[in-house]
Amino acid sequence: MAALYYRTVSFGVVLSLIGALGVGFMLGAFLPRLAADRHERVVDYEEAIAGPEKEGTAGSGSAGEMQPDAGIYDGPVFARSMPIDSMEAWVSWMQARGRGDSRDFMEERWALAASFLKTGELNRPEDLRAFLLSPREHFVRARNRGYEYADTWLPIGYGATITDPDVVAMMTTTLKIKPGEKVLEIGTGSGYQSAILSYLTTEVYTIEIIEPLFIETDQLYHNLEGAFPSYSVIKRKLGDGYYGWEKYAPFDKIIVTCSIDHIPPPLLKQLKAGGIMVLPLGPPGRQYIMEVKKEASEEGDITLSRRDVYNGMSVRFIPFRSETGSSYSASP
Ligand code: SAH
Repeated sequence: MAALYYRTVSFGVVLSLIGALGVGFMLGAFLPRLAADRHERVVDYEEAIAGPEKEGTAGSGSAGEMQPDAGIYDGPVFARSMPIDSMEAWVSWMQARGRGDSRDFMEERWALAASFLKTGELNRPEDLRAFLLSPREHFVRARNRGYEYADTWLPIGYGATITDPDVVAMMTTTLKIKPGEKVLEIGTGSGYQSAILSYLTTEVYTIEIIEPLFIETDQLYHNLEGAFPSYSVIKRKLGDGYYGWEKYAPFDKIIVTCSIDHIPPPLLKQLKAGGIMVLPLGPPGRQYIMEVKKEASEEGDITLSRRDVYNGMSVRFIPFRSETGSSYSASP
């Protein structure tokens, strides 16, 4: 089943009322964060990491690991040189870069980004830049032409979906990625999320479990690398992301893009102290986007805190599944 995503009516109504009153910009940017902070709470670390270690071949990386060619292209440095003060300045800069973005798509991308600035789903300039540099039109599959910048998820085959742009933006901005940080994505899917990450850091790792989808997206990145060289830094692996990627652990940030009703213990262990994980947490059919922060005290005690970044608004992602195809979620 595809990842369906919806807003609760009350949230939508509240936001539209604020917009209608003409004070939407400032409040829209700050409301979600202020409100969400009230839902912060602490999770017991020892309890959270009690769970399976590696099983079978999962996470070994033997199933297939595609390594980009040597040579690091610095996406974050490229992104910083881009003007974002006006759409015209941005469009001219983009057109001079030989990437081939069409003007229509750029205008649609700019409009989406502007709306996410208002809702707070993009709240740092570097995340805005990464979003503006990422051509969703290349990651939406051919059958969905015409919907490249619709703010919705779309099917990409194999039962998977490309996530809604606003949820992608929100999850990205929650991670507060700094250049050079190691970021692991679980669920490569279309490749769009990691494409965005490649403008925030040169250390991007992504795992996909469906082999034909993994191959398709790997090929897509190769095809796009000439015009979009930052994709060449994305390290990708075919395998079960539940067990993380031990070889490159620990990670500063982890983004899970398939739904699960618990935080996978191996991923928690592979998250650095001081790190952030963002994931759609909840039973199949209804999840909440959680920011999980792992901190270590001076004595080395680990504490976890979690926060619902949308403050009660639910989402629906496709399930986090095992190599046998069963869901990792225990509840129905
Ligand atoms: N980030 C993607 C989202 C794709 S949908 C995008 O924006 O396009 C979620 C993806 O998670 C699917 O491609 C699905 O195959 C993958 N997935 C599910 N369980 C997984 C697992 N155990 N390990 C790695 N990927 C998994």
